[in-house]
Amino acid sequence: METEILVMKFGGASVVNTESFLKIAELIIERSKQHPKIVVVVSAMANTTDQLLEMAKQVHPEPPRRETDMLVSVGERISIALLAMALSLKGKEAVSFTGSQSGIVTCNNHMDAKIVDVRPHRLVKALNEGKIAIVAGFQGVSKGGEITTLGRGGSDTSAVALGVALNAAAVEFYKDVAGIYDSDPKKNPKASLFSEMDYDKALELTQSGAKVLQSRSVALAQKNGVALSIRSFHNPAMKGTVVGAGAKRRSEMIYEVDSCS
Ligand code: ASP
Ligand code: MG
Repeated sequence: METEILVMKFGGASVVNTESFLKIAELIIERSKQHPKIVVVVSAMANTTDQLLEMAKQVHPEPPRRETDMLVSVGERISIALLAMALSLKGKEAVSFTGSQSGIVTCNNHMDAKIVDVRPHRLVKALNEGKIAIVAGFQGVSKGGEITTLGRGGSDTSAVALGVALNAAAVEFYKDVAGIYDSDPKKNPKASLFSEMDYDKALELTQSGAKVLQSRSVALAQKNGVALSIRSFHNPAMKGTVVGAGAKRRSEMIYEVDSCS
């Protein structure tokens, strides 16, 4: 049987400085002992995306959307290159890919592009060569070859889309909190952690503003029956929250939209 692929997603809170890349590289190497085939999706560092958007605003009060995507997609490219370097330093071969190189095809609606297809053959090739594949979250490419982004928090949706396309064993989200709580654990020390949650509840939470996952990623996971594991990068052995535990995987893949208008 073919080895199953694991998708690990690291958000901006897990990459706050250059040191962070060395830390998460260790976590990835540890995980690769169980799962030799790993695709990592990473976000832009800390508030890089906000800073890039702020720069755009300083130049133009209403920056053209195409150029905004060209600009903000850079945040994730910084992260993928630094993470590949960190893994290389620790003796693990890794190769970074932009959203476009990863085959994430979107419609052309800049800054809120929906995923229409995923063609991850370059990632599969890297995995078959024993390398860790590192993907820039939040971005894709339109059929016309334009760089697009998926809306704020969109790296979560990148991770789920790749989980679908690669028929991954699991999609794991590494956060600065241990999972989904009944209230904000950063404000309420008594907040309690859900060990499991169904898709509908997770959708409701994320649509009403909970930042734990981009709600589009939950909807995409639900459509395809992909379970999502949310855990802490501080304490990766802790189980955290599983959304859609025991869901039945659909045999054919469905992305966010069937076609672009
Ligand atoms: N860097 C992007 C953002 O801050 C995407 C992401 O983090 O998922 O919205
Ligand atoms: Mg971010």
